[in-house]
Amino acid sequence: MDVSIVNRFFDDVSEKIGLEEGYRQVLRYPARETTVQIPVRMDDGQLQIFTGYRVQHNADRGPYKGGIRYHPDVNLEEIRALAALMTWKTALVNIPYGGAKGGVACEPRQMSEEEIKRLTFSFTNKLRMVIGPMLDIPAPDVNTNAKVMAWIMHEYSKSHGWSPAVVTGKPVELGGSPARESATGRGAIIIAKEAAKSHGLVFEGARVVIQGFGNVGSHAALVAAKEGARVAAVSDVYGGLYNPQGLDVEALAQVVARKGKIPETNGGEAVTNEELLELECDILIPAALEDVLTKRNTPRIKAKLVIEAANMPTTEEADRILRERGIPVIPDILANAGGVIVSYFEWVQNMQHYLWERKQVATELKKLLTRAYKSVIQTAEEKKMSYREAAFAIAIERVAKAIRLHGI
Ligand code: GLU
Repeated sequence: MDVSIVNRFFDDVSEKIGLEEGYRQVLRYPARETTVQIPVRMDDGQLQIFTGYRVQHNADRGPYKGGIRYHPDVNLEEIRALAALMTWKTALVNIPYGGAKGGVACEPRQMSEEEIKRLTFSFTNKLRMVIGPMLDIPAPDVNTNAKVMAWIMHEYSKSHGWSPAVVTGKPVELGGSPARESATGRGAIIIAKEAAKSHGLVFEGARVVIQGFGNVGSHAALVAAKEGARVAAVSDVYGGLYNPQGLDVEALAQVVARKGKIPETNGGEAVTNEELLELECDILIPAALEDVLTKRNTPRIKAKLVIEAANMPTTEEADRILRERGIPVIPDILANAGGVIVSYFEWVQNMQHYLWERKQVATELKKLLTRAYKSVIQTAEEKKMSYREAAFAIAIERVAKAIRLHGI
């Protein structure tokens, strides 16, 4: 993965906004990196050692915040880039957090639930001095979910007392927000609707193609369908399904919940993940992993609008090609910020021990995202920047101002 893309954008935009060199140095590198060894007794009795990371990029606007992913490709470089991205994301949507990211290099698909649980307990134990409700608040990311967050909270609370605010994305019964699981996907569609409006597309009836049917992609698909779009294709790691007239996403979600994967036929024809990205459509939503839009496939992409629901799905070359081709890209730090925004609401409720109504969460989410969207559009116009540059510019200026106010 080309992880340096975050820093290259940071450097370019810092140059454009005239950020002082000292601040550039501070913000180019993480404030703290923790690498830990995680010994786990596997079900067969063997002791296996995993490596875990927590990278804390910046905390000048509030405690560190960001997800934890379990994936074989997890490495320090990737986590570093994703941690920086969290700093820019929380600053852009203006919630009082910094940025962090964590992960463990493992293959959860080949591990039992008990093994994943022991891994999580052991990882949390190793991180317990660097995380905390006012220090660093993890959340779900690739291959982690409410269950994993509950285990982190349990392990952390053993040494710190009842601490629901140490993680977000928890089960509702342990202080989680019922709207957190769907929040990233919902947020991506709130942004997609706004972007469609700004670019002369009618969302109702628009053909939407979504790569990924996990926590982000599945909810994006369900919300898009509910809002009247035609979800023409979706996919998971094994492949996808295509029907230009629109798939029955609800039915598909039920099959996936039962069988664990998208069926090869169910109201559509089978497509590969590569084919899916190049399908005829109005809105393309990459909602899986990094680096899926590359210099190889981007010249053939037919979408009129790209909404980055995944983190860093577009390589630097692909970003340039899309720009040359006049295809607007709504960057990840805006398009997928719904998740961390609802995490923030969950944390606020945990800190106050006071529960909001679900409707309040939805209203506030829309308010924050729409505000951020408008500021990006306005900055892009005023400064003649791409949306990604504009989003970075707003975020960098906010963080730099916070550093200055701290008296550094
Ligand atoms: N993992 C999500 C992200 O990349 C959410 C992070 C959070 O809620 O803290 O934005």
